[in-house]
Amino acid sequence: MDELLEDLVQKYLPFTNQGQLANYIPELTKVDKNALGIYVVSSDGKSSFAGDYQKRFTMQSIIKPILLLLALMDNGEDLVREHVGVEATGKPFDAINYTDQALLSEHLNPMVNMGAILLCTLLSGKNYSHKFQRLLELTRNLSGNSEIQVNEAVYESEKRTGNRNRALAFLLKSQGIIQDEVEDVLDCYFRACSIEADCKDLANIAFVFANRGRRPVSEERLFPARYAHYVNAILMTCGMYDGSGDFAIRVGVPAKSGVGGGIMAITPTRMGIGIYSPGLDTKGNSLAGIQVLEELSQKLYLSVF
Ligand code: GLN
Repeated sequence: MDELLEDLVQKYLPFTNQGQLANYIPELTKVDKNALGIYVVSSDGKSSFAGDYQKRFTMQSIIKPILLLLALMDNGEDLVREHVGVEATGKPFDAINYTDQALLSEHLNPMVNMGAILLCTLLSGKNYSHKFQRLLELTRNLSGNSEIQVNEAVYESEKRTGNRNRALAFLLKSQGIIQDEVEDVLDCYFRACSIEADCKDLANIAFVFANRGRRPVSEERLFPARYAHYVNAILMTCGMYDGSGDFAIRVGVPAKSGVGGGIMAITPTRMGIGIYSPGLDTKGNSLAGIQVLEELSQKLYLSVF
């Protein structure tokens, strides 16, 4: 396995240049575009890794499945479903997906920005900083890494420039879908996107989803199996935004990307995979990261199809 990962990293390293850094968040352009790393945790507890697997990067949208999980743990499935739909939008992650029809909860999706901003309002907590702290604690617990922190520079950068997300949040507020102060809700969202992780953290989190809510080896249960079922299904259909259909054909596993260049991929019952390469394709997904996953999936028969 180590050898296979090493070969894949060497093979796809030249492609890292073809991607673009997410320049709409200025701080994200300060990274090395040629980085490529992977970490895999298997059901026997063994780990394999290659390349820049120790580089840290912000999770960005990879926090969305954890946000959804916490909303499910706090409120149960029915209430979450009432507030945020589950159908793919087929649109970019920051699309203002609102035309002449009324904006209803069923039009929202938890894996795109508008739905994720709404999820922040559903978390339990006495204020938005408490809600965020609970999300951070859950992320640490799922990854088994208590050192996970926010990258303050990325948080400040996104808070300063995130006007598209402000537009989305104001639209939710104008429709009465959220009641709280937009800046408070967004502060939680921007902090959540700025949580920093590495490939190992992503692989460990992915493994818990792959193992239906239980840690590797100890099998300690962290959340109900039903919630893994719910989150994995949404990741399969929407985790790579408007690239999800293409990804399902090429790779065929539930996964979540972030504009920081990470991908968290879940192979149900078998593996958790974390990948990092910050050059993005036109949909905002890690370009070389998908190439590595595509070949890994072919070689190890990972596709659920
Ligand atoms: N923080 C990013 C944003 O809201 C997350 C988007 C992403 O990773 N695709 O724009």
